[in-house]
Amino acid sequence: MNKNNYKFPTVTVGGLVTASVTRRELAEVMVRDCRLARENLAEWLPRVVFSSNGQGIALAGQDAEFAATMAKADIIHADGMPVVFASRMTAHPLPERIATTDFFHDAAKAAEEQGLKFFILGAEEEQNRAATEEIAKMYPQLKIVGRRNGYFPAELDAEVCEEIRESGADVLWVALGKPRQERWAIENRQRLRGVGWIKTCGGLYAFLAGDAPRAPLWMQRCGLEWLYRAAKEPRRLAFRYIITNPYSLYRLLSATHR
Ligand code: UDP
Repeated sequence: MNKNNYKFPTVTVGGLVTASVTRRELAEVMVRDCRLARENLAEWLPRVVFSSNGQGIALAGQDAEFAATMAKADIIHADGMPVVFASRMTAHPLPERIATTDFFHDAAKAAEEQGLKFFILGAEEEQNRAATEEIAKMYPQLKIVGRRNGYFPAELDAEVCEEIRESGADVLWVALGKPRQERWAIENRQRLRGVGWIKTCGGLYAFLAGDAPRAPLWMQRCGLEWLYRAAKEPRRLAFRYIITNPYSLYRLLSATHR
């Protein structure tokens, strides 16, 4: 196991131990960890970085196994604005929201500068391909060393991990949806020794591929991005939010340490 010597404090929000860190600091940590990984390729266990939003908080509150999986992360950052609002009830409010869709760009810029390599795992084949092409266009110096869609059976996990390791990836982006992506990351981290970071990223490729528009900034800032997404994709998301929002609100109020 790596020695986890992160300097930032944590706050328990909605039952999840959440890192009090800014976007810039998180990108710096990514670069530092990937450098350390390269120095200890054979031993380095990937750092697993998850994000916290209403859906994840609700899932962890209802499913002890998922809560245990979340607890194994090295870093959980606040992906949703409600997580940041709730942290203001504590003595250590989180400095800002780190939406994975925003953080991806911080990470890509840092990776371009530092020569770090990305592997793009997850989503439907077409979306994965389109997102990868878009990333290559936006960040021409970025080394994208592999990509693979997220529809493969568990029997292929070892093979998929071997492909990722052999690619020399520093950062593995994993979009398999909650809770599969978190379980997959924890279950497979031993097979991915030498990879610096495993970063879960849910619907990221849909945004990058242009399949899903981002909510207007004012909605993102007010904590209403979920409402915009639900309005755009009511069949898939409205039910999710109707079910999870009241319960995640309850968890945000009752399982945030003041
Ligand atoms: N997905 C996948 N394999 C699966 C299940 C889901 O690759 O077995 C992908 C799915 O195609 C989508 C992503 O995982 O691209 C989940 O996106 P979602 O919008 O649900 O993520 P979230 O809202 O949690 O960020």
